[in-house]
Amino acid sequence: MERDIYDDDHEAFRDVVIEFIKRYGTNEKREKWDADGEIDRATMLAAGEAGILGLSVPEEFGGAGMLQDYRFRAVVNEETIKAGLGSLAGALGIQDDLAVPYLAHFGTQEQKEKWLPGMATGEVIGALAMTEPGAGSDLRGVKTTAKKVDGGWVVNGAKTFISSGKTADLVVTFVKTGEGNRPDAFSLLLIENGMDGFEHGKKLNKIGFHGHDTAELSFSDVFVPDENLIGGEPGHGFVQLMRNLPLERLSIGVAAAAASEAGLRWTLDYTASREAFGQPVIDFQNTRFTLADIATTVDVLWAYVDRAITLYGQKKLTPEEAAKVKFWSTEREWEILDKCLQLHGGYGYIMEYPIARAFADARVHRIYGGSNEIMREIVARQVTGRR
Ligand SMILES: Cc1cc2nc3c(=O)[nH]c(=O)nc-3n(C[C@H](O)[C@H](O)[C@H](O)COP(=O)(O)OP(=O)(O)OC[C@H]3O[C@@H](n4cnc5c(N)ncnc54)[C@H](O)[C@@H]3O)c2cc1C
Repeated sequence: MERDIYDDDHEAFRDVVIEFIKRYGTNEKREKWDADGEIDRATMLAAGEAGILGLSVPEEFGGAGMLQDYRFRAVVNEETIKAGLGSLAGALGIQDDLAVPYLAHFGTQEQKEKWLPGMATGEVIGALAMTEPGAGSDLRGVKTTAKKVDGGWVVNGAKTFISSGKTADLVVTFVKTGEGNRPDAFSLLLIENGMDGFEHGKKLNKIGFHGHDTAELSFSDVFVPDENLIGGEPGHGFVQLMRNLPLERLSIGVAAAAASEAGLRWTLDYTASREAFGQPVIDFQNTRFTLADIATTVDVLWAYVDRAITLYGQKKLTPEEAAKVKFWSTEREWEILDKCLQLHGGYGYIMEYPIARAFADARVHRIYGGSNEIMREIVARQVTGRR
């Protein structure tokens, strides 16, 4: 089904992204990212140069100022995923959908001036650190504390599963600045690479997204100056997170729809070229019906995700709607990629094939950005009116 959310500017921008992918997203590059477990800085800088990184950085700070028109970011997300470059999509997405918005939306003028220009070029890579070894879904259970001292905060604790955690220069870190677990007990601090006591721990060995680093972080008496408190006042961290999480969830929804569409395309190509019992696999009725089901679901997925992109652009996407999009689209993605993999037979299990990598990458879509159980909780609270 034809999609109609993009205009000529977005399509022209899509050409830029496709050109970038042709040049920097070669198989050789992807294999190197997978082997190294991270996207190299030169590629991130090239993305900045090409104008496909830092889309959410306002123009006055050197970015494209596209935070208000998420469709440009959706184009980057779609095209990198459709090219089988999930890890690159992840690295660009963490910068633009998870790290930059906290500065662009809530940062002080000084914080924006100091950090956003570098985030637009790729000289500063950002990450968002909420999850801890003992607290993921239940963010109010975090134990990383920031104690007030003269001129700043002293941070102690640990974070885990942090995307871009190894390569990040600047980590937007969710810390406890108050007593108890009321929302106003939490703040977001900008913790810089090189601060005494801040260690990037080991890169975690994941099922998928092999080319994008995910790491543990530890903080031991890290002094963070007052000017690194996002927004300049303590106690707003929880609300700031809640305001940006719908964007993160929308971004995962776009990734899920793009991966589903890509899975369909790879499977059409593969089954047309593979023969069994003297005929192409695509001609078995089971294959044809499965592909028909998938193609229909992909249409519905895009219709739903596109509507969410439009609502986000109109500042009308509610947290509950973002939660619905996130869990529903990632579950359809999972079913679709599983069916696509099955139609590849044994080759579907081999990492050389894009369907195998997409399948492995997709698994975490149901876990991160708020697990799908937590998404259902958010929706259920609204639907039932009960907590
Ligand atoms: C590859 C990867 C990248 C990540 N990137 C980041 C990142 O950049 N920054 C960051 O901060 N975090 C990141 N995360 C962490 C991710 O957001 C968490 O793993 C996720 O929120 C779940 O938290 P948890 O792992 O502690 O699971 P838990 O909270 O321990 O949950 C375990 C299980 O219990 C279920 N559960 C928990 N509470 C409830 C409930 N109330 N009702 C029903 N079921 C419930 C969960 O859904 C899950 O199935 C990443 C994780 C991975 C794997």
